[in-house]
Amino acid sequence: MQHKPLPSQTFPAGDPLLTAALASMPYGFSIWSEDRRLILFNQHYLDMYRFPSERVRVGMSLLDICKLTVELGNHPDMTVETLHALYLQRQDQCSNPAIPLRSQKPIRGRVVKTTHICRPGLGWMVTHEDVTEEVEQQRIADQREKSLDTQNLRFRAAVDNMRQGLCMFDADERLVICNQTYIELYNLPPELARTGARHIDIVNYRSEHGMRPVNGAQSFMAQHWQLQEGEESRTVLVELANGKLISIHHEPMADGGWVATHYDVTDEVQRVAALETRERELALQNLRFDAAVNNMSQGLCMFDRQERLVICNEPYAAIYHLPRELTAPGTTLSEILAHRLAHGIVPVGGREAYMASRKQLVVGATHAKEVVEFEDGRAICVHHHPMADGGWVSTHEDITEQRKIEARVQHLARHDALTDLPNRALFREEMDKLETRIQRNEAVAVLCLDLDHFKAINDTLGHATGDEVLVNVGKRLQQVCRDTDIVARLGGDEFAILVHKLENPMHAAALASRIVKLVAEPMQAGGHQVVIGTSVGIAMAPGDGQNAETLLRNADTALYRAKSEGRGNYHFFEKGMDEALQHRRMLEQGLKVALARGEFRLVYQPLMDLEQNRICCLEALLRWDHPERGLISPMEFIPVAEETGVITAIGEWVLREACKAATAWPDYVRVAVNLSPVQFKNRGLVDQVVSALNDASLPANRLELEITESLLLADTELTLQTLHRFRELGVRISMDDFGTGYSSLSYLRSFPFDKIKIDRSFMKDVGEQKDSMAIIKAVIGLGRSLGMSTTAEGIETEEQLAAIREEGCDEAQGFLFSPPLPASSVNALFGNGGALTTRQRKLG
Ligand code: C2E
Ligand code: CA
Ligand code: CA
Repeated sequence: MQHKPLPSQTFPAGDPLLTAALASMPYGFSIWSEDRRLILFNQHYLDMYRFPSERVRVGMSLLDICKLTVELGNHPDMTVETLHALYLQRQDQCSNPAIPLRSQKPIRGRVVKTTHICRPGLGWMVTHEDVTEEVEQQRIADQREKSLDTQNLRFRAAVDNMRQGLCMFDADERLVICNQTYIELYNLPPELARTGARHIDIVNYRSEHGMRPVNGAQSFMAQHWQLQEGEESRTVLVELANGKLISIHHEPMADGGWVATHYDVTDEVQRVAALETRERELALQNLRFDAAVNNMSQGLCMFDRQERLVICNEPYAAIYHLPRELTAPGTTLSEILAHRLAHGIVPVGGREAYMASRKQLVVGATHAKEVVEFEDGRAICVHHHPMADGGWVSTHEDITEQRKIEARVQHLARHDALTDLPNRALFREEMDKLETRIQRNEAVAVLCLDLDHFKAINDTLGHATGDEVLVNVGKRLQQVCRDTDIVARLGGDEFAILVHKLENPMHAAALASRIVKLVAEPMQAGGHQVVIGTSVGIAMAPGDGQNAETLLRNADTALYRAKSEGRGNYHFFEKGMDEALQHRRMLEQGLKVALARGEFRLVYQPLMDLEQNRICCLEALLRWDHPERGLISPMEFIPVAEETGVITAIGEWVLREACKAATAWPDYVRVAVNLSPVQFKNRGLVDQVVSALNDASLPANRLELEITESLLLADTELTLQTLHRFRELGVRISMDDFGTGYSSLSYLRSFPFDKIKIDRSFMKDVGEQKDSMAIIKAVIGLGRSLGMSTTAEGIETEEQLAAIREEGCDEAQGFLFSPPLPASSVNALFGNGGALTTRQRKLG
């Protein structure tokens, strides 16, 4: 900022005219240069801040003025710095000349209003006014207004909450105020509820909306004028055309206006009026009672202590076919009973028993309920309520239909809807009843049945036919059983039979065989001739179980066995069957999810090339780490996987996993994978192998597939086709477990195998049994002449190794070299060119 020379105007010296003008100003006045120095000021300015005149000079800096005013105690809660900063800020803020800036700040209890006016290029003009009084007055006014507001609000709330409508009119008959109740009472629109609304308009509005006094609006106004004339307060009751009764209290005011309260007394008046018509009401009540009594669906009657009828309704008369004269008050109970008996309304138990029970009821002091069955088939439910005076009231309800429906529901709940045979629930009930008899050593048999391949019938011939088959089977079962036996359908194609009073087990066996034979006979269903077989499992009490639960379960276990032994037969339960079955079920369930849960892994066992004395191949062997049972042998789970079909998915996984693993091995080492015959049923097998090789980038000639003789037992054509496709790809095929089947040798002619693996059972008695050695020798010779290499499995001892080596066997596999190893340990085997070290050999 450029410094300008100080202007010549000063105070108090200088131009007397200016001095006078400044002194006549009603407020303090100061002018400041742009570099914030005092240029001009008047006496008021000094007075306002109580500045001694000798301490204020022209040219003094703003900072010095701040120091002075703080020193004098004008700003008890401010330091020099904050005050100075505040001034600077004010002056900067009004650098826009158009806007004078005002501020009020208290100086030692007084309020000074400063107005900064900017003079561009020159500095600032500041006026200083003492506004203490004004501020105080404003504060008092504000406060007064506030308290008046609250008072008004309170008054308003009180008035609006009155139960009476309240209104005040002035001398000009214009509305001053009215409350919410008044507005609601006459349903006034907002323009008539406003201050200034005319009384006559309100009265007219009320008339137009049905709130006219019954004796006319004119009369109301006349009454109103009359009220106005009198000087004391009065209350009148006005009956409106809409039926309302309003009590109006009129209070004239000194200024010619009035206050009135309007109170709706309709309900109160009616209550009072009601008291007078009690008699009339009672008659009405009686009419209503009669209507209710005759409209009841139950029969109702009331007798007094002399057994005379007081009242009865129409349904009562209808139930007991009573003529009109027997429903008249005073009719005796015995007259009514005599009529009933004479007209065939006879209780099933006979008249005497009934009369006795009636007597019992009548003298009983408590509420009783009884169902009386009549010879005409009806069932009547009677509720008997004794009364204090010795009489009674009873209700009679015909529940015949209801009972029939209940019986039907009961039947449906315990019978199969399709065959109408007992269902599982009823069968269990019957079984439970037997428990005590079983405990008394009565022989009982439970037969569980299930139809063979029933699903196929449903799938091919439709559900309607399937249903018909089930009905026919149900009938046939009932045909072979005695009436005392219970034949039930447990659900689906499962049936069960409970045979009691069994003479001996042969009886159960005979029954089962009759069932198997009869069910197997051709039947007509859905326009087809259908033949269906059944399998039966038998459990005998007490030997195979003492309670329903165990017997049913064991019969089911035996059924499972009968089915697995080729269906269409029966099987008795045997001890141990259960555990085997449980185990098998556990395996089945577990296998379904094992793959997805990653419970499988592969281990690899080397095959030694005996000429080169190094590893030439590794056989992939599957391992299942069951989460609860631990390691489960493939010998145990592979057959189950084969039966349930999951082997297809598992086998594919093994192929892919083994091919991947082999890529980490030296090129001369192949991988051998075992294939199950079930996998060959799947037409995608060749594609699976190709894709496993491609995905792993493994040359086909590094894969060996091991198959067993059993594969060649059935479906030879398709199987041989598949095997040839493999050979064309360059994949090698080995005949596994050779020598365990009946016609091993003949299979060797059917396909040009690359390798024969002599089963490990032949190695067991090498050195002891001459026969075994002879067979091994023959197989090795045969293989050589057919151009197939030979592998001896299960080599555990040096002696066995020496023997097969001598016979010219090409390869050997067994614990002598190595047990199957996890994939991670395999690479260590190739440390010395694939020859196994002694340490590794000892591992076997
Ligand atoms: P295998 O194909 O004959 O496999 C050789 C079996 O002999 C393996 O049993 C192996 O551990 C065992 N073994 C190896 N050296 C010796 C030895 O010196 N002495 C004796 N006593 N046994 C030896 P493992 O791994 O329990 O496999 C049993 C069978 O399970 C296999 O017989 C094979 O038929 C089947 N299997 C294993 N993995 C698979 C697979 O991935 N797929 C199919 N389909 N079957 C498999
Ligand atoms: Ca094998
Ligand atoms: Ca084998």
